[in-house]
Order: sequence, then C-alpha cells, then structure tokens
Amino acid sequence: MKLTYEPIIGLEIHGELLTNSKMFCSCSADYGSAPEPNTNICPTCTGLPGAMPVVNKKATELAALVGLALNCSINKHNTFARKNYYYPDLPKGYQISQYELPIAEKGWLEVNADGENQLKVRVRRVHIEEDTAKLSHEKNYALVDFNRAGVPLLEIVSEPDIRTVEAALDYATKVRAILRYLGVNSGDMEKGVLRFEANISVRPVGSDEFRTRTEIKNLNSFRALTRASAYEIERQIQIYESGGTVVQETLGWDDVRGVTTSQRSKEEAHDYRYFPEPDLPPLQLSDAWIESIRSQLPELPEAKTKRFIADFGLTPSEARFLTSERTLANYFESVVAKSKSPAKTIHSWIAGEFMRYLNDSGLSIDDVTLAPESFAKLIDMVTDKTIGASAGKTVLTELLTKGGDPVQIVKEKNLLQLTDVNAIQELVTKILNDNPKEVDEYNAGKETLFQWFMGQVARATKGKADPNVAKGLMVKGLEERKK
Ligand code: ADP
Ligand code: MG
Ligand code: ZN
Repeated sequence: MKLTYEPIIGLEIHGELLTNSKMFCSCSADYGSAPEPNTNICPTCTGLPGAMPVVNKKATELAALVGLALNCSINKHNTFARKNYYYPDLPKGYQISQYELPIAEKGWLEVNADGENQLKVRVRRVHIEEDTAKLSHEKNYALVDFNRAGVPLLEIVSEPDIRTVEAALDYATKVRAILRYLGVNSGDMEKGVLRFEANISVRPVGSDEFRTRTEIKNLNSFRALTRASAYEIERQIQIYESGGTVVQETLGWDDVRGVTTSQRSKEEAHDYRYFPEPDLPPLQLSDAWIESIRSQLPELPEAKTKRFIADFGLTPSEARFLTSERTLANYFESVVAKSKSPAKTIHSWIAGEFMRYLNDSGLSIDDVTLAPESFAKLIDMVTDKTIGASAGKTVLTELLTKGGDPVQIVKEKNLLQLTDVNAIQELVTKILNDNPKEVDEYNAGKETLFQWFMGQVARATKGKADPNVAKGLMVKGLEERKK
C-alpha cells in the first residue's frame, strides 16, 4: 500500500521595524535613503570595543503592538541575549536578540486551512533583535555596508501547526497585512524588509509523530515561499518513499533552478552559545504601559473583514479584497460614506475598473489623488442612469489621469445617457424600418443578428442609450414585424 503524506510547516518571519533610529544606537535606520554606504554608522553599530548599546523605546512599542495584534501575552519582564556567531556582516561577532524571555509569546492567528476551514496557528514568540550589515560580492573581494547593521528587527515564530502550503501562504499574507496595518513594516519584500523561513517535515497521514525537519532560509517573496515549500515537501516524500531518511539541515532556495540546496547540515549547525546580554538591563514593562500600547491597536484585517460582511452585505472574498490594505479599506469606506449607491456597487467599481487602472499603471492605492467625493459622485451618476456604465468608465479614467469634476467631464464629453423612452423608441423604429432584410433574416431564425441591431443603436447614440430600455424596445419591435 502506498502511503500518503501530510506536511508539517512552521514559519519564522523576520521584519524590520519602521523606526527613525537603530535598535541600540541613535544612527538613522533608514538605510534605503542613505547617500553612501557606511554613512549611518557609529561605534555601537559597527561593534567597536567599549561602545554601549541603548534600547530603542519606539522599537519596543512597535514590537509590543505586533505581539498584541497576534494575540500574544506580553512579558512584563523580558531580556536581551547574545547570539554568538561569526560572519562578516555581523561586526560584534554576536547579534543582540531575545532568547529565554521574548517580549511577547503564546499568541495565535486564524488562517484559511484549505479554502473552507479556518485554522488557529499558534504564535510561539515574537522577539526583538537587530539586522545585519549588507554584503555585496565583487570579482574576488566582498564589500560590506554597515548602514543596515543594527536596524530593529522583529522575529515572529509560529508553532508547527500549518498543514498545507496554502495555509502557510495565508499565514504569511496575514502577518504581512497586520504589520502594514500597524505601520510597523512596509511589507516591501523586494527591499528585503520582510523575509520568511519555512521549517518543513512530512509524515504519513494519521501519524502524530514529528519527524526531522529542514529549514529553508531567506525566502523573499510569497512566490518563493510557496514554490520552495511545495518542492521541499515533495523532496522529503520521495526520500521516505525510496526508503531513505530526511536529514536535518538548513537549505537555501534557488529560484532560477526551482530547487532547495543544502547550506548547512546539523553537524555544521551553529552553536550560538546564548547568554544574557551583560550590557543591557531587562525590559520592565508596566501594566499601564502595555494597556496604552493596546489602546493604539487599529481595527485589524480580520475584524474589518467581518464588519464589512455584516455592515455592507459583501461576500467574504469581496470583503477580504477590500481589507487587504488598510488604505484601500479606508478609501472604500470614504466613498461609501459620500455615495448614495449600494456598497456592493462601490465594491464593484473599486475591484474592477479602479484596480485595473492601478495595475496597468503600476500605481498603488497610496498614489491615488482622486477624492472619494468625486468617485462617489461618478458612481451615483451611473446608478441613477445619468450616464451609462461605459461612459462611467471613461469619466473614471479621466478623473484618475487628469483629475477634474465628474459632472463637468460628463458635460464636456457629452456623455449624458439617453433615457427618454420616446426618443429611443423613435430610433429603434427607424433602424427596423431601414433594415427590412435583416429583420426578415432575424425573424427567420438568425438570432445572432440581435447584437447587430443593438450595435446600430449604440452607433447612432455613441453608446449613450440606456441599454435595457433599448433592448426591450428592440425585442418588441422585431416581434411585431414577424410575418
Ligand atoms: P529552535 O529554533 O529552537 O530549534 P524549533 O526547532 O522548535 O526551535 O522551531 C523552529 C521552527 O521550526 C518553528 O517555527 C517550529 O514551528 C518549526 N518546527 C519545529 N519542529 C518542526 C517539525 N517537525 N516540522 C516542521 N516544522 C517544525
Ligand atoms: Mg531561526
Ligand atoms: Zn550606530
């Protein structure tokens, strides 16, 4: 009998925190805007002997905010530790991290298990650490830029609760959305400010053992996360199927070849020799401080999604799309507030024509200058049939590219919809009288000609006749001419 296997996945997510200064010194953390390499540096973040670290207060606030958003408990007493290893991007020879007592632990996040069921993924811990410097490799030498060294970094570690690649993707997507909602991380994965590591093992379905896992490092996109995980699951299944055993190792992901590659085996694994950081006192957080951070929590994607479904009558997937970004959700709500049209209709405009424009022009919602009032006015003109749907799209494009007032644009472009039944009737009668041959063919069974008749209406009115009215009159007129 052939066994079927179940994957076990645990994710570690590293995200930089959007603070002005670095984690343990006052250097600017904005290494992306540094004019030159090695300009945002000081003795502390370059690891000079005797330089002392000082904890960044803002970073601890942001870390606690993330912990609370992930339903963790905050450790009122938490400590820093040295994680010792040598690498050229780590000037001190150790990274200051949190080990025994992280700032937050024991949380959870609800994710989509398989399209139907929800799954509570436990969050083991959220801890504060510091980013490394950046290396770039030239022909036969390497360059190091310390501008990134010491930038506040958060690590979010899940329990091995995830059972499908889809759920891993959903978990990662939701964590990113939460970080963006909180404004603690831009989620810009091309810039490396958010990175995933996937821990993977497989076991026969029905078994409850935890087998040896491998860890895939530095996955810098959702695509890399899903492809690498799927590949690694399959690779491990093949090993068991052919009678082998999986060895514990650290893997890299080769995006070009689409394979995981061994970086380090268990024998070569680092012994980090963690010990308490002697230069930093423990963080002592008061209940009042924790509550003041809790009070800063915005409405998070999950809660917003539920509210959008309940208040606006949207489907779960419509609501989830709108709440994927806080700015998009706010924009939607602003348009709804200014408009007389149903929220469903506003969702359709935003998810359809509006997003198409953003995607085609490579813009994000933050780049949009169109005021919600104007967008609402335009949608209402379509709803009350002042203009047709296709004219509405024309106006929207105009508003997005050039700005202006929707009413004015409709006037200038002469887009008012023809809703006068008598006028449309007159036109339909004329078209039918002018085309007796087509009328006979249609009535003899060539039904495809109907679109041609409607095309004549559209041509004569430049697409402005109310299509439902025109359609009804056309059907009636053709019927009357049946011999
Ligand atoms: P440590 O980093 O201290 O070795 P663990 O090995 O327990 O910690 O966990 C590191 C990550 O690996 C966590 O995200 C955890 O969920 C995941 N993990 C642990 N065991 C397994 C397993 N058997 N299969 C898949 N993932 C696992
Ligand atoms: Mg790790
Ligand atoms: Zn510094």
